[in-house]
Amino acid sequence: MYDVAVIGAGVTGGLIARKLTSYKLNICILEAENDVGCGASSANSAIVHAGFDAKPGTLKARFNVEGSRMMERVCAELGVKYKRNGSLVIGFSEEDRKTLGELLERGRKNGVEGLYIAGGDEVRALEPELSGDVTCALVAPTGAIICPYELAVSAAGNAMDNGAELMLNFRVSSVTVTPDGFSVGAEDGRRVAARRVINCAGVYADRVAATCGDDSFRIRPRRGEYMLLDKSAGGMCSHTVFRTPTAMGKGILITPTVDGNLLLGPTSEDIDDKDDLSVTRGGLERIAEQVKREMPRVDTGAVITSFCGLRAVGNTGDFIINEPLRGFVNVAAIESPGLTSSPAIAEYVAEILENSGLKMENNGKYDPEHRPLHWFRELGDSEKNEVIARDPSYGRVVCRCEGVTEGEILYAISQNPRPSDLDGVKRRTRAQMGRCQGGFCSPYIVKILSDRLGIPFEAVTKSGGGSYINVGRTK
Ligand SMILES: Cc1cc2nc3c(=O)[nH]c(=O)nc-3n(C[C@H](O)[C@H](O)[C@H](O)COP(=O)(O)OP(=O)(O)OC[C@H]3O[C@@H](n4cnc5c(N)ncnc54)[C@H](O)[C@@H]3O)c2cc1C
Repeated sequence: MYDVAVIGAGVTGGLIARKLTSYKLNICILEAENDVGCGASSANSAIVHAGFDAKPGTLKARFNVEGSRMMERVCAELGVKYKRNGSLVIGFSEEDRKTLGELLERGRKNGVEGLYIAGGDEVRALEPELSGDVTCALVAPTGAIICPYELAVSAAGNAMDNGAELMLNFRVSSVTVTPDGFSVGAEDGRRVAARRVINCAGVYADRVAATCGDDSFRIRPRRGEYMLLDKSAGGMCSHTVFRTPTAMGKGILITPTVDGNLLLGPTSEDIDDKDDLSVTRGGLERIAEQVKREMPRVDTGAVITSFCGLRAVGNTGDFIINEPLRGFVNVAAIESPGLTSSPAIAEYVAEILENSGLKMENNGKYDPEHRPLHWFRELGDSEKNEVIARDPSYGRVVCRCEGVTEGEILYAISQNPRPSDLDGVKRRTRAQMGRCQGGFCSPYIVKILSDRLGIPFEAVTKSGGGSYINVGRTK
């Protein structure tokens, strides 16, 4: 019997599980996919929002500001890339300026530090590539960027290092009340028993809640498509640049990533299919068109990949974090600014569990630190040479675009949570994330996974399930 079963291994599930391992508790994480961080946590804008967007008094406002203050420390502990680059919300008209004034007021009410409104010339001094038509901007110096999939991987990994158990391909299909707590069942027939259950199932959180009788909320996915540009375009701007928002969200943004690419997007489209991650020509055209108006010299032809993420939009307008029945906690409708809020949400959920009567004694062995997965690339040349002398696999470059070595891939495979497919290796090492998008290195990575995991070459997948890459040998 587990003390707590956490359903879903995105950033909220991972950070909640990690927080709970700081107590003497038996934790399991139940994840539907073949790896952690496969949902919204891997396909988003990667912004640590300052906190001027959310309506004062909401959970979104509270956890955005608290999470933004916590994020730098959490990323340092977990070895996740973080950069405080500041953000700008740009305006083109008097009407935009009025909206920016409202955002400034809202931000101050929410407790965001350092906000101010700058005029067109001042904004262009901060970001010289911005269009001459920009007349004003809200400047938020506390805005930052992070690597979201590293956060998801390292949060779950640190929870596992501290004793949590991860069960992959465990798609929860039922949560039933038992005399001691709950029995959580998967589609494939597996079951686990737990005293408490935390539902962090992203766009599926409403369906998971409904299986134990809570049908008080709905989640509707809102698609967001992106274009990721080559590092040659990465220097176009240093801040995150948002357009003045509308009712559909924060609009299309232009931002550098922590790895030096330029990210453009997202679009915003409400849909019914909880799995529709398609990227459309129309979506990409809308992004390119809007970006050209904001920053005319951005070369959208330098796109190296495009992707889509699904925001888990609830029907209450706020995050839904509640305990509809004793011991069953929903952490649902965690749409933007959910990434930013995730460390603060984890603290709050621990309080809910404490108030629900769960015995929570401090775990004296808890270690919050997780060595960065990218430790090797941060070394200087002479230190790299020392590592290569000890272990020649660090001298063999597998991904030429991103300069990722065999040693780094083997290191990732040796760490919690171990990747077992191509996308898992990509999220941990950046191999396949460069210009050629894996065209050159993926066969080598398949071979490494096959050798290390002891599975046939043909059985290695792109992202679990039936996503096979090879159908058989030709010679
Ligand atoms: C386009 C877009 C842009 C965004 N930009 C930002 C941003 O810049 N800054 C910001 O702060 N936030 C942003 N967000 C929001 C942020 O990405 C999310 O709030 C955050 O990732 C939510 O994390 P999560 O763990 O709750 O959900 P997810 O990451 O979706 O994780 C849910 C997990 O549950 C699993 N699951 C689902 N059903 C089941 C089941 N039945 N059984 C077991 N497991 C299950 C899924 O496989 C998944 O791994 C953005 C979101 C999107 C989509």
